[in-house]
Amino acid sequence: MKKAFIKSYGCQMNVYDAERMADVLAREDYAETAAIEEADLVVLNTCHIREKAAEKVYSELGRVRVLKAERAAKGLDTKVVVAGCVAQAEGREIIRRQPAVDAVVGPQSYHRLPELLKSGHGAVDTEFPVEDKFAALPAPSREKTRSRGISAFLTVQEGCDKFCTFCVVPYTRGAELSRPVAQILAEAERLAGAGVREFTVIGQNVNAWHGEGPDGRPWSLGRLLHRLAEVPGILRLRYTTSHPRDMDDALTAAHRDLPALMPFLHLPVQSGSDRILEAMNRGHTGDAYRRLVERIRTARPDIALSSDFIVGFPGETDADFADTMRLIADVGFASAFSFKYSPRPGTPAAESGEQVPEPVKAERLRALQALLEAQRQAFNHGTVGRSVSVLLEKPGRHPGQLAGKSPYLQAVQIETDAHRIGDVVPVRIVRAGSNSLFGELDDGSSRAAA
Ligand code: SAM
Ligand code: SF4
Repeated sequence: MKKAFIKSYGCQMNVYDAERMADVLAREDYAETAAIEEADLVVLNTCHIREKAAEKVYSELGRVRVLKAERAAKGLDTKVVVAGCVAQAEGREIIRRQPAVDAVVGPQSYHRLPELLKSGHGAVDTEFPVEDKFAALPAPSREKTRSRGISAFLTVQEGCDKFCTFCVVPYTRGAELSRPVAQILAEAERLAGAGVREFTVIGQNVNAWHGEGPDGRPWSLGRLLHRLAEVPGILRLRYTTSHPRDMDDALTAAHRDLPALMPFLHLPVQSGSDRILEAMNRGHTGDAYRRLVERIRTARPDIALSSDFIVGFPGETDADFADTMRLIADVGFASAFSFKYSPRPGTPAAESGEQVPEPVKAERLRALQALLEAQRQAFNHGTVGRSVSVLLEKPGRHPGQLAGKSPYLQAVQIETDAHRIGDVVPVRIVRAGSNSLFGELDDGSSRAAA
């Protein structure tokens, strides 16, 4: 059997795609390896969202070129493929910059990887093919499915029609597409049958998902989540990433009515300034976001919120930034991702003459992250002394420990031999570390993890 090394950068969609590429390659007799030096095929599944992410790929390709030459000196052939969003955005330019690359394949065409590999050096496929990529992907073997673990990603939606003025996704991932219900359920049942207990339902705009249900009626994500909760073996559901504009009443109600749906929601707001939100083309104001959060908290009072923020978007003034800080203070986030604005070629905001100087961006990011980190720590410390349910996912840091997640997506370490991976257990949180919580079984049978 040949060996394939697949490395993924960026979002959860890429993690899912990398797994599916491994399925496609398994059909061609490639086994996955974690050791790049023994790989006959190296696939870099890339991210184009910020300049830094895209540039990382070229430095990694420099290292892969050396490896390929070393293997060639031993008479071994190595194929190098660039996949993902940099592949889509830059196409043949990648091979011009780094001739060690044999093929380039976009996120919509990776099901055609075997044909591409057979067509020799310099093959590029960045089409948005008419055939259904998901239908063309092979079902993974039972063994491979089992390796997905206790918690698995399940892609239900791809692409984006929102065209935020800073973002490359609509160009690299193409138009919004929802997978049909039957296809999603077939994959969900296969994963659950192989031991998966939690789905994180994913999409670039996951709550824009819509489809025709088996009852012939139009379904939105809320309805789909209810159906996924009925899949035997499934204990927990999450979904990401949501757009505030697509948070409909059925989805909000699912947070009230569906016990399997975990009380954690990643709902990016990007900025708290109405002027900047409009320039970003986000389609909502800061107050609309606050009202939405209020509605969601009415449905599920303990919900933990997370968000994405961009600082230094073109034209952002100190007053705009202060609006963002105020929104953060008003809403309160359990966790968040935050970035300096990075101009992306071909997007409207990159053309703006009002770019914010780098030191200003850096200072705003520092202040914003300090506030968000204080909120995150406060949230984590707020769970100390409480009993929460934990889905046990894997062995912990030390022998005799297991690690899992709280309903609020916090990592929890507990000391137990009494339970197995895949169980949901009550845990009393005794201590909050900087990145994990530590707890003991709430049935009086266990000591706290060190
Ligand atoms: N679809 C999701 C949404 O609308 O919130 C997020 C998609 S994007 C993969 C993830 C995050 O990257 C965005 O929420 C945004 O904060 C950040 N991002 C996107 N483009 C960026 C850019 N040009 N510079 C800095 N951050 C960016
Ligand atoms: Fe990018 Fe905006 Fe689409 Fe999210 S909604 S993927 S930020 S264009």
